[in-house]
Amino acid sequence: RAKREGKSCYHFFEPALDEQARQRRQMELDLRTAINDGEFELYFQPLYSLTEDRLKGFEALIRWNHPTKGLVPPNDFIPLAEETGLILPIGEWVVREACHQASLWDDDLAVAVNISPKQFGSPDLVGKILNAIAASGIAPQRLELEITENIFITNVEKTMAILHSLRDLGVRIALDDFGTGYSSLSYLRSFPFDKVKIDRSFVTDLASGENGHAIIRAITTLAEALGMETLAEGVEDEEQLAILRREGCRSIQGYLLSRPMTAEQVKAWTGADNAAALAG
Ligand code: C2E
Ligand code: MG
Ligand code: MG
Ligand code: MG
Repeated sequence: RAKREGKSCYHFFEPALDEQARQRRQMELDLRTAINDGEFELYFQPLYSLTEDRLKGFEALIRWNHPTKGLVPPNDFIPLAEETGLILPIGEWVVREACHQASLWDDDLAVAVNISPKQFGSPDLVGKILNAIAASGIAPQRLELEITENIFITNVEKTMAILHSLRDLGVRIALDDFGTGYSSLSYLRSFPFDKVKIDRSFVTDLASGENGHAIIRAITTLAEALGMETLAEGVEDEEQLAILRREGCRSIQGYLLSRPMTAEQVKAWTGADNAAALAG
C-alpha cells in the first residue's frame, strides 16, 4: 500500500504505536475498575530518627493488587493516573486510608503521604485532607505530606497558597527526593518545609568516595540553618548509616531498617520493637 519509502517506514512503526495506545487504554480502564473495586493497598516503611534513637512513623506507599498482573509498583501506574486525572480519586483514598491506619498506631507515630503535583490542581485538596484527618480522629500534626519540587513548575503563587493553607491545618510538609530537580536550592527559600528528604541517589553514591560525604554535610547544614529536619532515603547498609550519622543527618529510611510492609506486618514489626536494632 505504501507508495514511497518514507510512507512505508511510517507504516512499519504504526502497529507498535497502536499496540502501545491499546495497552494504555486498557490500563486506564483497569485503573477505573481498581478504584471502584478497591484493588489498591498501602504499604508502610519505617522512618527512624537517629538523633532521638526512635521510630518516628511510617511512609505510606501505594501498591496495586492487579487481578492478573499481581502486585504493581507505583512507578508503573502513577504516571498514567496523573495523565488521566485518576490520581485525584486515588490520592483521596490514599490520604483517608493512611490516616485511618495511623489511628490504629501509637499516637506518637506519624504517617507520611506522597502528594502528586496534579493533586495541587484539584479544586479542594485542603478540604479533602481536612476531612480525612477528621474522619480518622488523628492529630493533624501526625500527618506529613511529601511533595516534590515538580509542584512548583506550574502556578507558583497558587501552589504556595495551598501549602500555607495545609500548614495552617497543622500538617507537616516534607520536600521529597531533594537534590534531583533543576533548582533545588531555590525551592528551599520559597517555603518553610518541616523536612527535607535527601534523595536516595546521594546515599547510594556514598560508597564511591569523599564527595558524597561533603554533599550530605552541605545539605544537612543548610537544612538545619533553615530550621528544617533532614532524612536520608534508601539507606541499605551500615556503612551508609555510619556516614549519615557522622554528617549530621537526623533520620533515615531504607531497606537496612525495613522494606515497605503491609498494615498487618506493621503491627507485628512495631510490637517486636525492631527499630531498637538501630539504636547506637
Ligand atoms: P518516594 O516517595 O521517594 O518513596 C521511596 C521509594 O524508595 C519507595 O519506592 C521505596 O520502596 C523505595 N525505597 C525505600 N528504601 C529503599 C532502599 O533502601 N533501597 C531502594 N532501592 N529503594 C528503597 P516505591 O514504593 O516503589 O515508590 C516509588 C515512588 O512512587 C515514590 O517515591 C513516590 O514518588 C511514588 N508513590 C508511592 N506511593 C504513592 C502515592 O500514594 N501517591 C503518589 N502520588 N505517589 C506515590
Ligand atoms: Mg515519598
Ligand atoms: Mg522520596
Ligand atoms: Mg524517591
